[in-house]
Amino acid sequence: MDLDLLERTLGGRGEPAFRANQVWEWIARGARSYEEMTNLPVALRDELAAAVPLSSLRLEREAHARDGTAKALFATHDGRPLEGVLMRYRDGRRSVCLSSQSGCPLTCTFCATGRMKFGRNLTTSEILDQALHFRRGEAIDHVVFMGMGEPMLNLDAVLAACARLPDLGVSARRTAISTVGWVPGIERLTTEGPPVRLALSLHAPEDALRSELMPVNERYPLYEVLAACRRWSEARRGPVFVEYLMLDGVNDRYEQAVALARVLGSEGAFKVNLIPYNPTEAGFSGSSRVAIDAFRAVLAERGVTATVRLTRGREIDAACGQLAAREGELAQI
Ligand code: SAH
Repeated sequence: MDLDLLERTLGGRGEPAFRANQVWEWIARGARSYEEMTNLPVALRDELAAAVPLSSLRLEREAHARDGTAKALFATHDGRPLEGVLMRYRDGRRSVCLSSQSGCPLTCTFCATGRMKFGRNLTTSEILDQALHFRRGEAIDHVVFMGMGEPMLNLDAVLAACARLPDLGVSARRTAISTVGWVPGIERLTTEGPPVRLALSLHAPEDALRSELMPVNERYPLYEVLAACRRWSEARRGPVFVEYLMLDGVNDRYEQAVALARVLGSEGAFKVNLIPYNPTEAGFSGSSRVAIDAFRAVLAERGVTATVRLTRGREIDAACGQLAAREGELAQI
C-alpha cells in the first residue's frame, strides 16, 4: 500500500492521526480488502477503497515450482518490472526474497539482473508490498534482500521497510540485507545498528578475479570490504554471512578455498554459504556437487564454517540471481 497516499488521503479528510496505523495493522496482518477493517467507519472504508489501492504494485504473473517456491512478477505504477519470491521449507519456514530496485546499476557478470537495464530505486511501500503480496496468502517469518538490486544503494527505503517488517511477523533477527560490499552502506549499518543480519556477496578470494566477476570491486576492493564487515561483526556481535557462488573452473579450485579461508580467518566473524550457480544466459556453469563438497571441506579444515545453500525454484528461474523480468513479460505492462 502506498503509505504516503494513505496518510495524505486520511489527512485530507481530517481523520485522526491513529487511523493510518489502524489501516496499516490490518494490511500488515494480510487483509485482502477494506471491508475486513471492521474498526473503521463504513463510509471511510468505502472512500479508501476508491482512493488508495491495497497494493502499490500490479501483479503481472506468478509462477509456482513443485518445491513450493512461488515467484511473482510485479509492475510499479510507472511500469517498472520487479520480482519477489516466496520460499517454503519443509520445517515450516516461510522466507520471502525482496527486490530493492527495479534492475540493478551494478554489472556483476554472472547475474541476470545485472544484465538488464537499471530502472530505479523502489519506494518503501513498493518493497513492503512484495512481502504483503505473499503475506495475504500465508504467514511469513523470514525476509532476505536478495532479489533485484543493491539494497545499500537504496538504504533509506530498505531500512524503513525493515522497521515495519516486524508488523508482518518478521523480526529484525530474521531479516537479512545482502550487499556486493558497498562499504558506506556497511558502515552505516554498523553505526546505526538496526539489528538485521548482514550478508556479503564475495564470490572470489582475491581482487583480480573479484574485479572480473564484480566490477564494483574496483571501487571497494576486497580488503576494505572485509575490514568493514569485521567492524560490523564486532559492533553487532554476530557473523557476516558470506555468499560464495560456485562457478566451475573459475573460483572453485583447492587453492582458492585455501585463499578464502585465509582472508576470512577462523575467528568466527564470517560464515560461508556456498551457492550452487543457477544457470543464466551469462555463460558460466555451476561447479559439480563433488567440487562444492570438496571446497567446503577445505574451509572446514581451516576453521571456517560453511554450508551449501539449497537451490529453490529452479524450474521457474526463481532462484537467486535469476530475477530479471524479460522483454516479453514487459510487453504486457
Ligand atoms: N546486490 C545484492 C543483493 C542481491 S543478492 C548482492 O549482490 O548481494 C543476490 C545473490 O544471488 C547474490 O549473492 C548474487 O551474487 C547471487 N547470484 C547472482 N546470480 C546468481 C545465479 N545465477 N545463481 C545463484 N546465485 C546468484
